Amino acid sequence: MLDLLLTRCSVPGSTQMMDLGVQCGQIAFWREHTGTHQPNSKEILDVNGKLVLPGLVEPHIHLDKALLLDRLAEDAFTLQDAIAYTADLKRTFTADDIGRRAARVIRKAVANGVSVMRCHVEIDPVIGLVSMEVMAAIKEQVKEVIDLQIVAFPQDGLFLDVRTPGLMRKAIELGADVVGGITYADRNVSGHLDFVFRLAEEYGLPVDLHVDFSDLADERAILEVVKYTKKFSLYGRVSVGHLTSLGSMNPGDAEPIAEAIADTGIHVMALPATDLYLNGRGDDHKVRRGLAPVKLLLDKGVNVIYGSNNIQNAFTPTGTADPLDIGLLLFQTCHMSSSRDSELIIEMATFRAAKALGLTNYGFRPGSSADFVICDARDSRTLLFERSARERVYKKGRLVARTDVQQTVWLGEGSGTLFAGG
Ligand SMILES: [Zn+2]
Repeated sequence: MLDLLLTRCSVPGSTQMMDLGVQCGQIAFWREHTGTHQPNSKEILDVNGKLVLPGLVEPHIHLDKALLLDRLAEDAFTLQDAIAYTADLKRTFTADDIGRRAARVIRKAVANGVSVMRCHVEIDPVIGLVSMEVMAAIKEQVKEVIDLQIVAFPQDGLFLDVRTPGLMRKAIELGADVVGGITYADRNVSGHLDFVFRLAEEYGLPVDLHVDFSDLADERAILEVVKYTKKFSLYGRVSVGHLTSLGSMNPGDAEPIAEAIADTGIHVMALPATDLYLNGRGDDHKVRRGLAPVKLLLDKGVNVIYGSNNIQNAFTPTGTADPLDIGLLLFQTCHMSSSRDSELIIEMATFRAAKALGLTNYGFRPGSSADFVICDARDSRTLLFERSARERVYKKGRLVARTDVQQTVWLGEGSGTLFAGG
């Protein structure tokens, strides 16, 4: 006997309706809807052609410095200002404060259909291990609702303070899932990467780096990342966020680098909400968008995905913790405008992000965790363009969020049948 049977589910790019069976928190089957021989189930839900996706994946977010807009003395318009203002605020953070802000973002994300999230946690002598300890506790508290992966992240560099490398090691021992790094905080990029990759090797962890975040075409730390990925044989286990300098290069320089990224299986996480906000500020005409070259990377076979990065802080004043808001930004700014592109954008927030995060029990294969979301849309474009509600969100087969949109519009008496049929 099934616990739940969903019938007549739509999927992106297909007219074939599907049925989804759930048992003991896992996918029992995902098969074509025939309308006959329905198996017994404690609950049956006819979703009547609505889109059903595996749980959305938020692959890059900073929960510990989210929701800080109302504390900023002034708005930040450059990356340097954003880092400096946030470093000042960080001195006032307490465990309780970090936990409350992180929980508010997690709540929003779950309502938006997110079932897995990778968050970067600041590690430095100012905050110490407070963020790490808070996030490790939250990870445990929310595990029935959302899976958290924690990246130990030295935002202010590894070598500007001698205590930071030791704190990074302690963060790993406290349960960080991923070793983080940043190529634009320390002068010695090779030394920085050497430390990060050695730590990853020692603890058997993947690597997730902030790389080449500027609009300067001569920033090419990505080449060092490629070198270290090969040296440590971490093929497919390294991700890079931003990579916007690559978007400023001419094609003759950018193409071989994109090919090298593809060859080493490095995943690229575009972070357009931040990149569009902070890059291009020095241009007084022909202002560049300052984004990673998403289409070029896709053409070369790179696994490109996207993340929110920040939610309402100095780096990114916007943000709703809805991955599809960010997907829409890619549609609008990367010329991803065909209907197939819309399906690809949905794929980037689901299967492709799951691949980058190394998720092994993801999707609709029998035995996978029953994490899925029913959307109030019938196809990818509608979901993306109308930001359709995620009506029901399930984690391990259990309903964890429900959104009912109620809206009333009073039409003029003269409208007659004009609006009939919706
Ligand atoms: Zn980031």
